[in-house]
Amino acid sequence: MSNTYSGIRESRPHTFNDCGGSSRELSSEFGKRCLKAADRTFSQGLQCQQINSMSALMSLEEAVFIAHSPQGCVGCTSMATDIYRVGQAHRGVKLIKNPRIIVSNLDQRDIILGGEGKLKEAIEYAKERYHPKLIFIFTSCASGIIGDDIDAVAREVQEDSEALIIPIHCDGFKSKVCASGFDAAFLSISKYILKGEKLPKQEGLINLFAPVSISYKDQLEMERMLGLLGLRANYIPFFSSLESIKTIPAAEASTSICKVFADEFMKELWENYEIPFSHTVMPIGVRNTDKWFRGVAGLFGKEAEADLYIEKEHARILPEIEKIKQRLQGKRVFICGGTGRSFAAAALIDDFGMELVGLETPTYDDDAQTDIEYLYAIHKDFIIDIANMQPFEQINLVNRLKPDVFIGVPVWSARLGIPTTHVLDMKRPTMGYDGILYLGNKIADQIENPGFNKKLAKHARLPYKKSWYEEDPFKFIKPLE
Ligand code: SF4
Repeated sequence: MSNTYSGIRESRPHTFNDCGGSSRELSSEFGKRCLKAADRTFSQGLQCQQINSMSALMSLEEAVFIAHSPQGCVGCTSMATDIYRVGQAHRGVKLIKNPRIIVSNLDQRDIILGGEGKLKEAIEYAKERYHPKLIFIFTSCASGIIGDDIDAVAREVQEDSEALIIPIHCDGFKSKVCASGFDAAFLSISKYILKGEKLPKQEGLINLFAPVSISYKDQLEMERMLGLLGLRANYIPFFSSLESIKTIPAAEASTSICKVFADEFMKELWENYEIPFSHTVMPIGVRNTDKWFRGVAGLFGKEAEADLYIEKEHARILPEIEKIKQRLQGKRVFICGGTGRSFAAAALIDDFGMELVGLETPTYDDDAQTDIEYLYAIHKDFIIDIANMQPFEQINLVNRLKPDVFIGVPVWSARLGIPTTHVLDMKRPTMGYDGILYLGNKIADQIENPGFNKKLAKHARLPYKKSWYEEDPFKFIKPLE
């Protein structure tokens, strides 16, 4: 997030949300800067940025989250709520809580007369009921369209409030790139909590940015690996606190588990606090875990220590991977996930000798181009679908390509009867050297036990006509004039 960044990912040059076809052709066009902007004339489902802003922060201690929206906008928080509850159980919390979510409940009347009164009421209610240290206000399409001035409301209420009130501008319609929601949350953290104040450096402290989709096992593994380099992680913002956030400027360096999550924020920390950062890959699979670890070590001049550790881990892990490879070799895979995770998973499957036939991910940009070029060393051409959701395209492609396994968010493809594995597994290990063993065995188990999905295909119907499966999956993507 450079000091001039708006928080809308489309404002970054060469960002594409709507394209599809051969990966080689797409990356070649992109590389020559000839890729044309396009749009879908039909669109089915879109993850909005409000949910990403909310889920990024929803596990923070002593915080309340006010969605200044109609009720339906917070429907998606059920997944983050579940992850928060499971995350507490994994961390040994006995009295498991729900996140404190309040909806201002904008309705038709408020759309005409304005909803600031309701927002003030929600803030008062939050203070009275929960006595929080932090109150986050999230905008929505509705509050954005009617132009409620949430900054002014926050300023006014802040005057006699002990809780810090933080508005976050994440109106769903502002961006089709759902990662803009992360940026909106970090922009507000920067403006309302960090405020440009410098702190004395703490030796060995590193900011480790982690989204909601990281399991506790993965957190521990990442912290353990950093510990091998003599580093201490300031784990932000998942399951962290106001105090941890305030400590961000005291870190000697930053890195992120997800490549997309805090990339802009880390740029800002470099510009404003001179905190160097490592932005490489998501540490899924042997190759990527090596790369991620070397990237962090490089910030501290500890490459030799990292290489020694990597050598030891390879000696331990590679014979185990070989056993899994016997079960997975040659299997054809379709991957669907966020931009950081899907490219990382595509590198991972090569550890098991699997073949990539298709990949769906929400955004294509310079970072994705780096990832795809890195993949060409291990995979041939494959079909790529740049799509935020769009299940109709996915189903058409998966049905056409007939992979042996689908890795990603499986709700739709499972109904085609093919084995599926969830790669966005926030409850189980997926990262680092032990994560790959868990994930590899899970993929192999699914392929060898396809019964559930087969029965599902018999009994659960997908909503598409037979004719759709014969159509070009990208027929609704039209170049912009
Ligand atoms: S903010 Fe907009 S896009 Fe997001 S859930 Fe609400 S109405 Fe839908």
